[in-house]
Order: sequence, then structure tokens, then C-alpha cells
Amino acid sequence: MGFSNLKIPKLCEFCQKPFEAKTVATRFCSKYCSEKLGKRQKQLAKEIEAKKTLLENSVSKIAELQTRPYISVSEAEMLFGISKNTIHRLIKSKKIPAINLGERLTRVSKIDIEQMFTAVEITAKSEEIPEKPNFEVGNCYTISEISSKFYADPGTVTNLIKRNKIPTKKVGSFVYVPKNLIDKIFDGK
Ligand SMILES: [Zn+2]
Repeated sequence: MGFSNLKIPKLCEFCQKPFEAKTVATRFCSKYCSEKLGKRQKQLAKEIEAKKTLLENSVSKIAELQTRPYISVSEAEMLFGISKNTIHRLIKSKKIPAINLGERLTRVSKIDIEQMFTAVEITAKSEEIPEKPNFEVGNCYTISEISSKFYADPGTVTNLIKRNKIPTKKVGSFVYVPKNLIDKIFDGK
């Protein structure tokens, strides 16, 4: 008899409202809330399943795209993450080859897009890391050393250094220039 009078303050797990539970195991204020939560959990499980299927579909779709030389604009968007507008602009400016099989049936060359984006990446990387001048002893020429090694008069050497924006280091009356940068210039001639 004593148990029926037991009142435990709790929050309903579905509607979040406070209620007085009769046992410690009670989780809901009403049968309604208990059923609602069950339904919601089923719905959630369904949504998770749907997302998984979608992901699996897109994985197999991408695998299928890899085998085709020409793909549609929306497939290119999916594969490379480039907007349709960008793709259309690239087609218009003839940066990527495309064929038109009819309205909304534009096909673009997958390899060309791939190469285009790889090329951009490499340029960006090489710009990020400029070659550091090496001014260590033994890694430098003086102007007169360059002059005698490459048979150029000191004035020409100085001009070349300026024109090619080669970094120099002045120590006393000597101007030191990194050997590798000078060799690169004279080897290229
Ligand atoms: Zn409730």
C-alpha cells in the first residue's frame, strides 16, 4: 500500500515536463509520451538508415564515374566539388573540352578537369615555398668569382643579379651571392 503513495519528481523524457513518478523506473509522464518517444526513435533509425543508403549510393556512383571519360555537369559538381556555374564558365572559355548531346546534356571531359585542378594545386604550392637563399660559407660566390668563372665583367654580373632579383649579402667590401641561384641562371643560357 505504501508504494502507491510514493512520488518521485522527474522530467518526462519525451515532453521534458516535470511530473511525479510512481517508481524509479518511470520515464514518461503519460502513456502518450511513452508511445511518442518510441515512434520518434523508429523515425530516427529510419533516417539514419536512409542516410547510410544515400552514402553507399554515392560511393558506388563515384566509383562508376571514375570509369567514364565524359561526365555530366552535375556529376562533375559531385565528383570535384566545383559549382555548376564554374563548370559552365570553364566550358564557355574553352578551358575544359565539352560535348553537347542536346539541351541539358552537356558532357565534360573528366580527365581535363582533373588535370586542370592538379595543375592549379602545384602552382599554388610552389608559390608558397620560395627557395631560401643559402649564404653559408662555401655556398656563395663573390662578384669577382662569378665574373671569372662565367667570363662576364663585374658590371654585367651585378646587372644580372639585380634583374633576376637574386638575394645578396654584403660582408665588408664583398658581395656574396648564393651559388645555386647563379649556376641556375648561367646554366640556363
Ligand atoms: Zn510527457
